[in-house]
Amino acid sequence: MDAAEDPTVRYGRVMLKISGEALMGDQGFGLHPPTVARIAAEVKTVHDLGVEICMVIGGGNIFRGLQGSAQGMERTTADYMGMLATVMNALAMQSALESIGVFTRVISAIPMDQVCEPYIRRRAVRHLEKKRVCIFAAGTGNPYFTTDTAATLRASEMNCEAIFKGTKVDGVYDRDPKKHPDARRYETVSYDEVLQKHLGVMDASAIALARDNRLPIIVFSLDEPGGFRGILAGNGTFTLVGG
Ligand code: UDP
Repeated sequence: MDAAEDPTVRYGRVMLKISGEALMGDQGFGLHPPTVARIAAEVKTVHDLGVEICMVIGGGNIFRGLQGSAQGMERTTADYMGMLATVMNALAMQSALESIGVFTRVISAIPMDQVCEPYIRRRAVRHLEKKRVCIFAAGTGNPYFTTDTAATLRASEMNCEAIFKGTKVDGVYDRDPKKHPDARRYETVSYDEVLQKHLGVMDASAIALARDNRLPIIVFSLDEPGGFRGILAGNGTFTLVGG
């Protein structure tokens, strides 16, 4: 069924942002193929509705620039290594999606023609119109940024209606819910409150960019089976960052 025909789904084009760590399952590092397959299946359920899907996957399960620089590595070099890690994750997701019949393109901010496509905005838009899932890799292509900022940037460029940030918790809390059982989940929270209270939804540059482009961010749990599709229909538990 096309999204336009399904009254429960209000979105035509969305960005799904997941951290690299979401792909490592219970392992402490790297890729856990059954977990990648599970997330790919979640994406397929939304793709089957005709929703156009952009994805950005982090690289923290393999390498983070800040960790490298803390160990004495030059920061920009470490960041490029982090960006390359995101390409590996994007390829893993591409493989999982294509194995279940979802056509995809991996589009890298750093050209590497033998591996994936370079980022050309109009071409990416065309892929989306043809219902290919676009997985944007290598972040923004610049050191000192994160994949949260890359997701916000690409979502703005692709005219996505919202960013769906899949995490391990079902929204944004006033305190860490794993440490404080009485932590309170926000139903909605403004961009400015997220920034002022350091709520840790995304880094500050990503939040500011989303605010300036009036791009809502929906934070939800990726661990909930059927969660992504449910959230798109406005069901389940989540926090809406907007206003
Ligand atoms: N990175 C970067 N520029 C970008 C995006 C990412 O330099 O535009 C690097 C940075 O070193 C970062 C790493 O890639 O630590 C992995 O991305 P991120 O930390 O956002 O991954 P996540 O935490 O979402 O898994």
